[in-house]
Amino acid sequence: MRVDHAVSPWPLREPFCVSSSRGNRPKQFNANLNRRWWGRLLFDRRGQFLKPKELVRIEESKLRKIVRYAYSKVPLYRRRFDEAHVKPESIRSLDDLAKVPFTVKTDLRDNYPLGLLAVPANRLYSLHASSGTTGKPIVVAYTRGDLLRWATLVGRALDTTGVRKGDIIQNMYGYGLFTGGLGIHYGARAIGATIVPASSGNTKKQLMLMKDLRTTVVTCTPSYMVYLIEASKAEGYDAKTDFALRIGIFGAEPWSEEVRKRIQDAFGLRAHDIFGMSELYGPGVGIECEQQNGLHIWQDEFITETINPNTGEVVEPGKEGELVFTMLSREAMPLLRYRSRDLSTIYEEECACGRYHNRIKRIKGRSDDMLIIGGVNVFPSQVEHVLMNIRDVGDQYQIIVSHKELDRLAVKVEVPTNRLNDTTFAKKIRDDLFAVLSIHAEVELVELGTLPRSEVGKALRVVDLRPK
Ligand code: AMP
Ligand code: ZN
Repeated sequence: MRVDHAVSPWPLREPFCVSSSRGNRPKQFNANLNRRWWGRLLFDRRGQFLKPKELVRIEESKLRKIVRYAYSKVPLYRRRFDEAHVKPESIRSLDDLAKVPFTVKTDLRDNYPLGLLAVPANRLYSLHASSGTTGKPIVVAYTRGDLLRWATLVGRALDTTGVRKGDIIQNMYGYGLFTGGLGIHYGARAIGATIVPASSGNTKKQLMLMKDLRTTVVTCTPSYMVYLIEASKAEGYDAKTDFALRIGIFGAEPWSEEVRKRIQDAFGLRAHDIFGMSELYGPGVGIECEQQNGLHIWQDEFITETINPNTGEVVEPGKEGELVFTMLSREAMPLLRYRSRDLSTIYEEECACGRYHNRIKRIKGRSDDMLIIGGVNVFPSQVEHVLMNIRDVGDQYQIIVSHKELDRLAVKVEVPTNRLNDTTFAKKIRDDLFAVLSIHAEVELVELGTLPRSEVGKALRVVDLRPK
């Protein structure tokens, strides 16, 4: 602890998360159980209910600190500020934020693995890596303080959904380099709920444990939960009566209101959207409260802006744009004005739950998920929205884009056997898609159970066969 205080501009005793400052630094960190380590974490609900004025005061005072810290510790930031002729001391309030240069994904890739560290490597407690599908992943680093802050934020997120000590959380996010598994794990530790580190895959065993352990909370990707609807049926379970689920926390990929309804109806639970990304600690950045109407972003740890992805100009709250995040107390790897590529809308209205942390709408997708088909922009989430609104359309679909003289969009949809040759039904799907996308899609009806399922990791719903 003494060591942390000596080099960190943030005392570990954050206003609302960490309690004692006595005792020696633990010799090692063990994710499963280290009483001394977790004993320091005293969960306090007040952080969720900070008033708007307090939030702005915290944001601004942390902003001033983190900008000076990043400038003095990380050569990339020093270079960027100098090139833009911005003095760190000139960033004093939220209005000054727009002067701060953006940080982008390639900055993290180009500095692979640890070129953006602000602390000596021997102060790191954990390293994770993003699920990059091509090339080098993005490596993210955490000091002990970062881990405690992350745990507290995920704890807050779980608490916001209604998870309490005594709940049994079956955590079906993958454990490993992906931040989903361990992030939820740490959060459960922070609030004292019981965690079952089931990790991803192994569906039969998941269902067996879910029933036998009387699991009350599940965490996984929404596409996996959709898959569990049919898998539980196939294994002979009655999803409503055999399980004791009351809360589901789903994220890591875009999903729609219609999928929420399908999951809630099947399992009789309340489904919450959770948002995060490796670069911002991991999960727990944003969470839906019981209102299920937008995700609160923990404003005392992240400043969120939306920008026009083409011009970089800030767009006002209420308008859609690319989310840009400034982490306010990341010690190992400060991140200023990080362009996430995720598209959403910020809104600042008060929430009926009593929390003032700003909300964002559910993520529409990443700007790089956007398909340009014959000049028309199409987001896979729009296709899902249309399909899941049609009765008799199964839970699984696939989007195939190809090029033969012109770009072509085909959508494969699972339907019950009696609908397989129903041309009127196929036409209805085509018309509904056209009404939203403004392009014609070929619709292919296929039998239930024939499209690929994602049991591990994020769903892959788009096949783009066009030459690159
Ligand atoms: P990773 O760093 O591998 O955890 O991936 C982070 C990315 O997953 C984000 O930038 C989003 O594109 C996506 N993501 C995470 N949570 C959600 C969510 N709740 N809804 C939509 N997309 C999400
Ligand atoms: Zn709320």
